[in-house]
Amino acid sequence: MDIITEGHLYQNTLLTFTEAAQLMNLDPNVFERLKRPKRSIIVSVPTRMDDGSVKVFTGYRVQHSSTLGPCKGGIRYHESVNLSEVAALAMLMTFKCSLVGLPLGGAKGGVQVNATKLSRAEKQRLTRRYTSEISPFIGPEKDIPAPDIGTDSQTMAWLMDTYSQEVGHAVPGVVTGKPIEIGGSLGRNTSTGRGAVFVVEEALNHLKMKQDKSIRVVVQGFGEVGASAAQCSYDLGLSVVAVSDVSGGIYNSKGLNINQVKDYYSKNKTLKGYPEAEAVTNEALLELPCEVLIPSAVDGVINSKNASKISAKIISEGANGPVTHDAHQILIERGIFVIPDFLANAGGVIVSYFEWVQDLQNFFWSEKEINSRLREIMTTTFKNVLQQSQAQKIDLRKAAMVTAVKRVSTAMLLRGLYPQ
Ligand code: NAD
Repeated sequence: MDIITEGHLYQNTLLTFTEAAQLMNLDPNVFERLKRPKRSIIVSVPTRMDDGSVKVFTGYRVQHSSTLGPCKGGIRYHESVNLSEVAALAMLMTFKCSLVGLPLGGAKGGVQVNATKLSRAEKQRLTRRYTSEISPFIGPEKDIPAPDIGTDSQTMAWLMDTYSQEVGHAVPGVVTGKPIEIGGSLGRNTSTGRGAVFVVEEALNHLKMKQDKSIRVVVQGFGEVGASAAQCSYDLGLSVVAVSDVSGGIYNSKGLNINQVKDYYSKNKTLKGYPEAEAVTNEALLELPCEVLIPSAVDGVINSKNASKISAKIISEGANGPVTHDAHQILIERGIFVIPDFLANAGGVIVSYFEWVQDLQNFFWSEKEINSRLREIMTTTFKNVLQQSQAQKIDLRKAAMVTAVKRVSTAMLLRGLYPQ
């Protein structure tokens, strides 16, 4: 193990990849190459704080593979960000883009910082300096960042502006998840949560379960992914019985009115004190009686300690890595239908791809068109993965990994090794 591979998320991702490689007799040279990222960049990000002092933060950008096209992946601002975590997420992006058939490779970036403690001005200065440090390595043909935990469309606007200032003209295609006014795509903000619910619909159909109020949904995380997953489940007519954010959750066994919860959250910036619901901890929330669980916050929340207590029949992994490798085994043995992260949360990168395509063409699509193309890709991929899992008698995560690795490895072998 080294600084790249030491983290638990990297180890988890590597285990899933290794199992798939064995199942498909992957070319050993391709396996060795894909086990590690193509390029890992560590930068210092000196940032002027509002009190005049300068703090130096550490930033990363890891490009795992550009075999299928320019690298693509979010930027995370969080205290726990480290090289290994970013590298694991970059590898997951390679497999995610490959799985859903996009002409893109995988990358991820991050800065080790508690973004909630920064003022808006400090966050802007940090973003601009981080962008400037990584700018030789990004661009519409090279590597296209997007939002992740702790970053949003405003952060992407600063990134786009900094890059554009450096090259001397507007380059909207350098980043996705931007505001609509500067080349963003309709439907991008809700795309990950929406996609995570599209695959829930497919799973309910496959398991011959109804799509009505009898289906209780629990969502962990009420950010970009969690709030839209809750909204889409609610709009579909399912009962969203619990939601949470970092400070805890709310539960009503009869179902929450998600429109009202969202209003309450935007006014109060917390779910605490929401009327017509009882408070639950994030740990208890995962074990609530429900049919569908959509963990949409951080990784590792379902682990060997609580996997036997999960009551959901379907888990759609809105977050990256919410189920550990050990826990996944337990869930599969218990017959729980787990839709793996790089399928369940691929909606974000799919609409990011649409945004990039729209920016390159300077021609923008309607939200209806975007959502229907998103549904088509999500459901086709789900069906392919399900078919592969049934044909090979393997779980969905392995089937998705086999499908994803096959496409990248075929492309790698066609392109060959440079130099020979
Ligand atoms: P976000 O910052 O908008 O929201 C994160 C949410 O999780 C917030 O509600 C926060 O309060 C909550 N949270 C944070 N720590 C928590 C904890 N320890 N326990 C419970 N809740 C906690 O982030 P996001 O963009 O919604 O991303 C959430 C997850 O989805 C991440 O794993 C991210 O990598 C993944 N993801 C995001 C996208 C996207 O398009 N935004 C795409 C694919 C995957």
